[in-house]
Amino acid sequence: MKEISLALVQWFKHHKRDLPWRQTNDWYPVFLSEFLLQQTQVTQAIPYYQKFIRRFPTIFELARSIEDDILQMWAGLGYYSRARNLLKAARQIVTHFNGRFPTDLKTALTLPGIGPYTAAAVLSIAFNQPLSVVDGNVIRVISRLFAIEDDVRLSATRKAIQLKAQQLLLPTQAGLFNEAIMELGALVCKPAAPLCAQCPLHTSCQAFHRNKVDAIPFKSSTPARKKRFHLVFVIRHGSYLLVGQRPGKGMLAGMWEFPTIELDAPLQKNSPQVAAILSSKFPQFTVKACKPMPVLKQIYTHIHLQYRPILLQSAAKISFNSEKYIQTRWIRRNELEEWAIHKAHQKILQHAQFKQWWMASSVIES
Ligand code: SF4
Repeated sequence: MKEISLALVQWFKHHKRDLPWRQTNDWYPVFLSEFLLQQTQVTQAIPYYQKFIRRFPTIFELARSIEDDILQMWAGLGYYSRARNLLKAARQIVTHFNGRFPTDLKTALTLPGIGPYTAAAVLSIAFNQPLSVVDGNVIRVISRLFAIEDDVRLSATRKAIQLKAQQLLLPTQAGLFNEAIMELGALVCKPAAPLCAQCPLHTSCQAFHRNKVDAIPFKSSTPARKKRFHLVFVIRHGSYLLVGQRPGKGMLAGMWEFPTIELDAPLQKNSPQVAAILSSKFPQFTVKACKPMPVLKQIYTHIHLQYRPILLQSAAKISFNSEKYIQTRWIRRNELEEWAIHKAHQKILQHAQFKQWWMASSVIES
């Protein structure tokens, strides 16, 4: 076992990526990056990390920030509860632990958004505590290394993998080992077409020797995502767009979006239902004024969302009363990027038809 671990650490020293949070031994960059990396690829997380570390160079600045700012900076990354938990955890660290990350595992686990994986990652990487981490990369490397063919969705399999990870861990180089095994999974032992010929572990790898690399890890299929259908009203008045803020709890809590109506089924472009919804929610408009966009899609963990944006020009700053939103506002189009608009509705702003419509109606107005 020790030979495998030493080979891995040696490989890591020569092949690790130069990631911005690896430039220091301080715990704060590790803590921040671990929040950003949950459910997110490294390449996507880097610009967000740079933005956050510039604006909040220490835990104290982060703890003093307000939730709206954090959500706005997080926009586009998804899983917004992470952003809220990051802020809550920062505030607790400052208030209860004098701005230092608690070095006791049990205490670290009491922080919002810190589960066993994140706690072990911060404590091992920043404080070299002998705690193994098990993420998707580690599961793949270990299940292949030991040819574990059981379903990795089962908790018994996860426990077996966790045990192997703990046995492999080098107690005096715990952080280095954890980073090394995750890096190997990301760069070499990839989900498809792993680079076994370049792998420092291929002489010990049982899946490689048994020619089972493609079959391991085995994952049973997931239950199908629920389908949801929305009609989204993108209403413009001059250079302003109408948006509403979702409540502080539930899906996309606190995020901003264009007024949205939930439907039971997808709507065809010229469905008479559009007229009915329009006259009940926005009686100022006629169907003729509607410019329907194509159906867009957004995948969430448990939901497959399909939504059709309807573009509308308004002669006045109309109001939209809905229990769905805690407040609504008219925001200038060029300031919208500074608001925490969730990803599905950011896609509307980036869509060619929206851009064309915005330009064309700007010309008419000027
Ligand atoms: S030899 Fe191949 S399958 Fe085995 S750990 Fe290395 S990259 Fe993964």
